Amino acid sequence: MSERLELSGDEREALSRGGLEREVADKMIENVVGAYTLPFAIGLNLQMNGRDFLVPMVVEEPSVVAAASNAARMIRTGGGFTAESDDPVMISQVQFDDVPAPAVACAAVLEHRDELLKLADQAVPNLVRRGGGARGLEVRDLGDGMLVVHFLIDCRDAMGANLVNTVAEAVADRIAELTGGQVGLRILSNLCDQRCVRVRCSVPAASLTDEPGAAEAVRDAIVRASKFAEADPYRATTHNKGIMNGIDPVVLATGNDWRAAEAGAHAFAARDGRYRPLCTWRKGDEGNLNGTMEIPLALGVVGGPARMHKGAALGLKIAGASSAQELAMLAACVGMASNMAALRALATDGIQRGHMALHARQVAVAAGALGEEVELVAQAIHARGQVTLDAAQLSLSELRAGK
Ligand code: NAD
Repeated sequence: MSERLELSGDEREALSRGGLEREVADKMIENVVGAYTLPFAIGLNLQMNGRDFLVPMVVEEPSVVAAASNAARMIRTGGGFTAESDDPVMISQVQFDDVPAPAVACAAVLEHRDELLKLADQAVPNLVRRGGGARGLEVRDLGDGMLVVHFLIDCRDAMGANLVNTVAEAVADRIAELTGGQVGLRILSNLCDQRCVRVRCSVPAASLTDEPGAAEAVRDAIVRASKFAEADPYRATTHNKGIMNGIDPVVLATGNDWRAAEAGAHAFAARDGRYRPLCTWRKGDEGNLNGTMEIPLALGVVGGPARMHKGAALGLKIAGASSAQELAMLAACVGMASNMAALRALATDGIQRGHMALHARQVAVAAGALGEEVELVAQAIHARGQVTLDAAQLSLSELRAGK
C-alpha cells in the first residue's frame, strides 16, 4: 500500500510511529505527558464526481473502514458519488449588549455595510490576496437590547476559525460606535450553514446484495430505516452518528477539528427546531436506491495542526483534495457510505453479525493473544457466538494447550 501511496522513507517512518514527534506534541498543546496513537487506515473504492480517491481514516472503532469501503463499492456501480459545495464561507459573530435603540442600530450597521466589509478585509490581507475575504454582513436583533452582527468571510482553503476571529476583533469597536452598544463576544459560529456540501448517489438495487431475489427487499428496508429516522429524533441521532462514523475519521486523519465538525453537523440537523437525519434514502424512478445528504463542514487543507503533525500532513496528501471544498465533499461522501452500510446491515442481517466478527479481534488482543493467535481466537469465539473476554481467555488457553 505504501508503494501505491508513493510514500517517502520519512513518511513511512512517521506513519509507523503515529506521525507525531514528542517535541512537536509538546508544542501543540499544554501539559503534555506523551502521545496517544490511533489506527490510520485507507478507505477504498470511493469515486466522487468521476474521480477515484483513497481515503485516509483515523478511527478506533472496528468495521467503520470496512463498512464504508464496502458501501462505496456498491455506490460505485451506480456511478459513484456526485458532490457539490458552497463557497468556503464562515460566519464571524460580534455581539453587542445594552443597545439603546436596536432598530436604529440595525439600520446604521446596514448603512455602513461597505465601510465595515472593507475594515474586515483589512484585518486579513493575506486571505484577501488569496482570493478570500468579506462577502457579506447580516444584523440580528436578539431582543432585550442585544444585537449580533454576522460577517460572512470566505476562508478559501483554511478551516478559518482563527481568521474569522481576527475579523470579529477588528470590526467590533467601529460597530460599537455605530450602535451605541457594548462589545460582547467576538468569535466564529460553528453552525457554518453558509459552508454546506451536498452529496447524492444512486445505487442499482442489484448491487445491494448477493442474495438472489432479495435486492428490492433490501432497498425497501433501507428506505423504511430512513423514514424511521425522519420520523423519530431518537433514531435520527443514531442515524447521524453513523454518518459521522465516516466523516470524523477523515477529519481526524487530515488534522482537522472534529469537535467543530460535530457541533456544526448536529446543530444543522436541528435547524428547524426538530432534530432530523442529515442523509435520507428513497426508491428512485428506475428502481435504484437514491441517497441525498446536506451537511455543513468547515475543513481546511492549509493551516491548523497539519503544519506540525506529520500524520495529518500525510492524511492530506493521501486524500489528494485540491481544495478545502473538495476535502469537505470527500468526507461527506464517506459519511454517506457509512450511513448506507449501517442501514443496509441493520435492515438485513442486523448490525451485530458483521461488527462482532471484527470486534472479536479486539477482544482476542485484550485476552492476551499474540500474532497468529489473534485471528484463531477471534474466529473461535465468533463461531461460538461468544465474543466476550472470558470466552477469549478460555479459547486462548485451549489453543496454547494444543487442544
Ligand atoms: P490558521 O490559524 O492556521 O490560519 C490559516 C492560515 O493559512 C492563515 O495564516 C492563512 O493566511 C494561511 N493560508 C495559506 N494558504 C491559504 C489558502 N489557500 N487559503 C486560506 N488561507 C491560507 O487556521 P484557521 O483555519 O484560521 O483556524 C483553524 C484552527 O482554529 C483549528 O486548529 C481549530 O481547531 C482552531 N479553532 C477552532 C475554534 C472553533 O471551532 N470554535 C475556535 C478557535 C480556534
